[in-house]
Formats: sequence, C-alpha cells, structure tokens
Amino acid sequence: MSRCKRELALYGKGGIGKSTICANLSAALAERGERVLQIGCDPKHDSTRMLMHGRALPTVLDYLKDVPKEAAVIDTVLGEGYRGIGCIEAGGPKPGVGCAGRGIISAFEFLERNKVKDKYDDVLYDVLGDVVCGGFAVPIRREYADTIFLVTSGEFMALYAANNILRGVRNFDGDRHRRVAGILYNRRNVAGEDRRVERFAEAVGLPVVATVPRSDAFAHAEEKKCTVVELGEAGPERDVFLKLADEVSRGLTLYEARPLSDEDLESVVLYGHRVSSSEEVVKTEEAVTAEAAAPVPTAEETAERPDPHRMPLYGCAFNGASTEAIHLTDAIVIAHAPRACAFYTWQNISSPGRRNLFNRGILMPSAISPNYECTDIGQTEAVFGGMDALRESVRLALERRPGAVIVISSCVSGIIGDDVLAVEDMSTPETPVIVIPADGDINGDYMTGIEMCMHTLAERIVDPAVPKRADCVNLIGETGVANNTDVNYRTVKSMLEGMGVTINCRFLGDATAEELRNLTAAPLNILAVDAPDNRKLRAWLEEKYSLTFYDGFLPVGNRETSEFLRNIAGFFGRPEAAEDVIAREKARYDAEAARLRRVLKGKKVIMTTINANLDWLLDAAEDVGLEFVWIGVLNYLRQEIKISDRPDRQAAVEEIGAFFSIRDRIRDLHPDIVISNYTAATDEGDYIVDNLPMGQLNGFRSGLEVMDRWARLLQTRREGEWMHDRALFEKYFA
Ligand code: SF4
Repeated sequence: MSRCKRELALYGKGGIGKSTICANLSAALAERGERVLQIGCDPKHDSTRMLMHGRALPTVLDYLKDVPKEAAVIDTVLGEGYRGIGCIEAGGPKPGVGCAGRGIISAFEFLERNKVKDKYDDVLYDVLGDVVCGGFAVPIRREYADTIFLVTSGEFMALYAANNILRGVRNFDGDRHRRVAGILYNRRNVAGEDRRVERFAEAVGLPVVATVPRSDAFAHAEEKKCTVVELGEAGPERDVFLKLADEVSRGLTLYEARPLSDEDLESVVLYGHRVSSSEEVVKTEEAVTAEAAAPVPTAEETAERPDPHRMPLYGCAFNGASTEAIHLTDAIVIAHAPRACAFYTWQNISSPGRRNLFNRGILMPSAISPNYECTDIGQTEAVFGGMDALRESVRLALERRPGAVIVISSCVSGIIGDDVLAVEDMSTPETPVIVIPADGDINGDYMTGIEMCMHTLAERIVDPAVPKRADCVNLIGETGVANNTDVNYRTVKSMLEGMGVTINCRFLGDATAEELRNLTAAPLNILAVDAPDNRKLRAWLEEKYSLTFYDGFLPVGNRETSEFLRNIAGFFGRPEAAEDVIAREKARYDAEAARLRRVLKGKKVIMTTINANLDWLLDAAEDVGLEFVWIGVLNYLRQEIKISDRPDRQAAVEEIGAFFSIRDRIRDLHPDIVISNYTAATDEGDYIVDNLPMGQLNGFRSGLEVMDRWARLLQTRREGEWMHDRALFEKYFA
C-alpha cells in the first residue's frame, strides 16, 4: 500500500486541457509545500512536459520494451520537475496498433513494484477519459485514486466523456463509496457552455469545484515552457489553482457517482431539460397503456439458452484450427499467441499419440512433435502490437521452404487488433502464407476453428483446374483423435490398392500441400465417418468443387466391407477386381473366427448401447458362437429402435433409461461378458466387463477385433488371477 496522503485522478476527454489543469494543480500543491508526483496516463505522453520545462521523459512502456522487468530501475523514467515534483509518463503504442489500456496496466504494475508513491504526499493521475477500456480505468480502481475529478468543457462530447467516467466509477463503487470530488470546468468560450455545465452538474449531483478561464496566459506560460502557476503572474488563471490546491489540502467533500442515461444526458445538455438524478422517471399515460398491453413472455422465452456456437467442447477456435492445420504435413503452423496458448494446444495435439506410445512402453520419438511454432506474444507485443514478431516468424518459416505457412491468431492478437491477414502478402510463388483468423475463442469454439481451417486451406490451396485422374479416391473427414485412425487408413488403403485404386488426398488427414492442391483430381470421394460435421463438410465440398461422393462411409464389418469393395470396383468399371480382395480377406477372417470360437463358443453376452446398427458386431458374434441374450438400448433421440437389419435380432432388445442399472439383468441372466459404460461391476458373478470402442475398426475384422479382446480377458482372468497376484504385489510393495 502506498503511504501518500492523497491520490487524485483527473479524467477528461482528449484535447480538453486536462494535462494543463493537472500540471497547474500539481504546481500549486507543490507551492503549498506538498510533495507531489504526477503520472501521465495518456499515450500522448505530454502530461508533465511543462513541469519538466519542456523536457520529454522516456516513457515507462518504451523503457520496459527494451529492459527486462527484473533489471528495470525507476530512476530512468522518474523525472524531477518544478519544486521537486516527481514526473512520470506511462506512454503507449503508436496509434492503430497494440493495446494502450494493457499498456497502462503494465506501467502501473511496474510503478507499484518500485513503490514509487511512497515518498510523496499527493499523487495525481492525468488520464484520458474518452477511452473507457479496463486499462484506462485502472487509476479509478479503489487501490489507486481516492479522489476523482471530471475535467470538462461545456461541449457535448466533453460532457459525454465525463458522464462515461461516472459510469466507470459507478461500476467499481456502486452506491457504497463516495470518491468523486466534482467538476473542473475548463471554459472554451463557446455559446451556452456555462448553462450546459451547470445543468449537467445539477443532474449528476456534483459541484463545479473550479472554473478555469479561457486565457492567453496558458499559451504564454507554454511558450516559457512552464505552468501558469510557476510563471507567477498574478491573475485569475493562477489564483484558481492555488485556491483549488488549498481546498484539496483542507479535504474535499466527496460524492457517489450517479451517471445519466444517454437519453437523459442528451436532454439535459442539448435541450436544456433539467433532470435531477434523484428524480424518478414519470411515465406518460400512453407508455403505461402500451406496457400493460404487451404480451408477458413465457418462462421458456425468458430462460437463458446456451448458444451452441459458444459451447467450448474441447477448446477454442484457435485450438481447433491448430489441431486441424498440423495435418498438412509439410506446412509450418505458426500460433500467433502467448506461449501458454500454444503449449496447451500442443499438448492437446500430441497427448493422444503420446498416451498410446506410453501405453506400449515406447519412448516418445521427436517425430510425434507437430510442425507447430509460436510467436510468443508477451507484454511488449500486447502493448505495442505483435505484427513485428509475426512477420519475423513468417520470414524465418519461409526460409525453410515448407509446403505452406499457416498462421493462426489467438485471443490476444485479436484483442490488440493485429492485422494478421497482412502477412498473406509475404507469400512466395512456391509457398503460400495462409492466415486463419480464429482470434482464440472470439470467433468461435473448437469445431468452428476446425471448419474455419479446412475451408481456408481448401480455398487457398486446392486448384479446381487440375485434370481428373483415373482410379483414385479422396478420403474425407477421417477422425482426428481416435487411436485407430491410422490403422483404418492402412486397412482401407491396402484393400483399395488390391483393386488398383489409390488414395489421392486425405482431407484433412495427413496430406501434403501438393496433395491438397490436387484434391479435385480424384473422380470419387469417400466420407470416412457419418457425423454431422462431416455431412456439412461434404455439402460444402460438393457445392464448392462439384465433388462426387460415394453414397456411404468407410465400412465396418464383414457385410459392409464386401458391399463397399464391390461398389468402389463397380464405380471404376471392373467389378471383378473386388472379388479377389474379398476372397483373400474372407480367408483370413475365417481362420481368426475359428481360433476365437474355441474360447467364445456358447458364451452369453449382455450389453447396453445407443440406438445404432450393430450388425457388424452381431455377425461376428454368430461366427464365433457368442450369444447376445440381452441388449439394452438408450434411445436418446426417441427414434424407432433398430439395431439390426435382421428382424430376429430385435428379440433381445429392450429400451432403457439413461441411468439404468444392469445389476438385475446380470443376476437373472448369468452372462459371461457384460458390455456397458454404465455397469457398476460387482465382485459377485463370473463375468468380464468391457465396452465398445468409440471409433470402430474398418474392414472385415471390426467385430473380431473386439471379440479377440474379450477372449483374452476371459483367458487372462481364468489363467492368471493377475489382479490378486500376491507374489507380484509383494515384489514391489511389501
Ligand atoms: S481461449 Fe484464447 S487464451 Fe485461451 S487458449 Fe484459446 S487463444 Fe489462448
């Protein structure tokens, strides 16, 4: 806490003369023997110039730009002016870049750390009042100013700014505190201004503490590079500040902030109505009648509904776009962000892969680290703008000649207003620079970021004029974070290649910029998974590039896979090509089913699941001799329950509620295998518990894959009793 006696904030519209008033008040207080510190909080940084006899001080923010916080010393920015007045200029960015409000916050943090206020009696803050973001409001936070003056002329915009300052004070104080000393009226000699200021003062319940006359004395003092007070010429210009200094020293009466509404302000200032802030608004008869006739909104209409666009899901749009962009394998992705955002996103991208490797006891290879870099936005960039850092990162990336440079903007770059799209001009004939203006979560959530990224990359890279190639397909919309995406890709690729069909481009699975450029060369496109976002993507690609899509998805299970292969082979005009692949895969399938049958034949399964087709699983169950005795279906969407194309399989189905307990079914049906996310597994009963994978395996083995796991669980339990292995436990814990 500071040990100074008073902290006074003088707020006013830019150009209204508040710096002149502030400097003269500082000088007058100093003449009365007070030790004074004046802090200029206007990016123009000329608040203390007359106190310093025309000498411009280095600003706090310019200084902190070059010197690390820990090494910074206050004396470099603290000037000593008239009568030992301490002078500091916070400074700010150049117009049009960065965030001046954040600059004020950074400067104040520095001043606090250095306890600069301790050796003064009075601290005066000279603050721009027409910029009303949180940074400029710092001096009116209660840990700073205990006394607030509104500096205004009689012009409407000056009074408008004064009223806004009252709103800011009200936000901090409510009606619990009184910190506003009143109005410092700076006359401009425009018609009717006295009456306007008087009406405003009356309406907001504040006194006009001082009226500063319009006078050449101020210009004269400025020529001499000092304040009117220092110049010492007798006159009302000097007297007004000395009198004000006396009042400040004696202690001023303080008032609570009672701002006007915009309508009242206009009617008071412009149209001369006298509206006292304590008066109640009197409604006209028509207004009362209209209000009574208005329909009363229902509870449903007034209830707050979540905006689906703003639902965070897995993260922000910056995060989603980054997760998608790194799939362009020869691109360099630049996160224009603080390092924390980039690190969080990098973790998000790399952890599913890392988890899988750790599960298998394999150390993480460097190749799993994505092609992801960061401009490392810090305090300097936040205040002065991050475009220099971004341009430098793009320049360095281009030197490495990647397939593309992709820039993704974060909240911070969005808030400080970096013109990120400008770096697209740095594109070279070989390498496009592509900006995804996600602006963190300002422009949407994780899924929005993914969509924004896919659309932007396609629009910038795909060349719709490339000629069609024979016998190739595109894979569209593979699942980003499932642990079997790559296994599925290899399965599908191998089956297609067995029929002489290649994969042209994975959109946007791992692909190079060149593959993406040739997207439209494939005569056929296959949507990997049936999901709402994928359907949307398909519609967009169809409309944008007239792509032809296979009428289905990557196949799951025996029947679907055979049908898929026959359809694709048929599309390319040689249906017989599918039969060889099907025969080869079927032989493998039969051999594995026979092996599993030896363990699983006659075993009973009960399962809870959602309302979706399960033929891929039930077909395989039949082939290995498993019996599904009960299937509880959670029917969230209240649609017709259909888990199979075969009517006889519906017999085992029962609709269940969301929090269904299957203990009763376990007790009554004595299953060997329980498949459920909702079971409360008990020690009683001789069964294993498992659940179905989120992403299914494509190809013939989809069902056998999960059954292989069940077989191993059954065998492990019987043979090992590993969970109760006393010898192993003693080895490590005894
Ligand atoms: S929401 Fe904003 S701050 Fe948070 S991770 Fe995303 S970009 Fe960074």
